[in-house]
Amino acid sequence: QAKAAGRNTLRLFDPDMQATVNARIELGTRMRAALERGEFEPYYQAQVNAGGQITGAEALARWNDPEHGVIAPAQFIPVAEDTGLIIDLGAAMLEAACHQLARWARDVDTATLSVSVNISAQQFQHPDFVSRVQTTLRRTGAPPDRLNLEITESLLLHDTEEAIHRMMALKRHGIGFSLDDFGTGYSSLYYLKRLPLDQIKIDQRFVRDVLTDPNDAVIVRTIILLAQSLGLEAIAEGVETEDIHRFLEQTGCQAFQGYLFGDPQPATDFTNALRQALSQPAP
Ligand code: C2E
Ligand code: MG
Ligand code: MG
Ligand code: MG
Repeated sequence: QAKAAGRNTLRLFDPDMQATVNARIELGTRMRAALERGEFEPYYQAQVNAGGQITGAEALARWNDPEHGVIAPAQFIPVAEDTGLIIDLGAAMLEAACHQLARWARDVDTATLSVSVNISAQQFQHPDFVSRVQTTLRRTGAPPDRLNLEITESLLLHDTEEAIHRMMALKRHGIGFSLDDFGTGYSSLYYLKRLPLDQIKIDQRFVRDVLTDPNDAVIVRTIILLAQSLGLEAIAEGVETEDIHRFLEQTGCQAFQGYLFGDPQPATDFTNALRQALSQPAP
């Protein structure tokens, strides 16, 4: 249709595009109702250390749609971002993850398990973000020093000084910070040095082909060295095979996450896996 109109024609109304926009608006409306009905829940994916012990869990949002089943973030996070729903959705995921963290701290014999929650730039930039996190921690009784917030470099594009200020305020309560999807954004090494981070997550796009693409191998090696020299932990995401795991270990990576160690799973399943792992003697 667009082609038939000729390439030099300026079209103010494209019916295809309008249909797409309408579909997104409709999905946004459905999502708000679904959020109010409690259809969103975090799944948890294990993070392991060099000894193979589970040291953390990343909370990953899932939509339990009664009609379509379990829906993955790729299907709803972009729309949530466009409609601003990400602020309330993110708050609900943080709340649920903190409840779960408090439960694990109480019921499962593990003194160190941390929970990582993804925070979108919009959510982080909300004027009340810091106080909302504090309120959530108080209400749920989650130990702040075992909560980890995963942020991305996109958050720095807006107001870096304010971002650093907020991170500092939360760090004073013991909250940790990870830089997610590292290597795919725009931030300079100057900012990386200034951010009060604890962990850098090596993006799975580099990890996936690390054994076959020499460029990815160089990038991964460099990120691990960079993390070490800045005193940060490097964690590799998307670790799917033993061979990749071994390469990363030999390169100095100390923390891992990926299907090799477990899929994201509902809280009850993760709790069972955790209990089982704890009942086994340490290797
Ligand atoms: P992310 O934070 O980088 O999360 C890692 C993604 O990699 C997750 O996808 C996880 O399921 C997937 N993954 C884990 N292990 C492997 C593996 O071995 N191989 C491969 N190929 N993938 C693996 P998921 O759950 O679909 O989430 C996608 C993205 O959606 C997340 O990327 C994050 O950016 C966003 N997201 C998820 N939950 C939330 C949330 O509660 N709030 C916000 N703001 N974003 C979220
Ligand atoms: Mg993440
Ligand atoms: Mg990531
Ligand atoms: Mg991501």
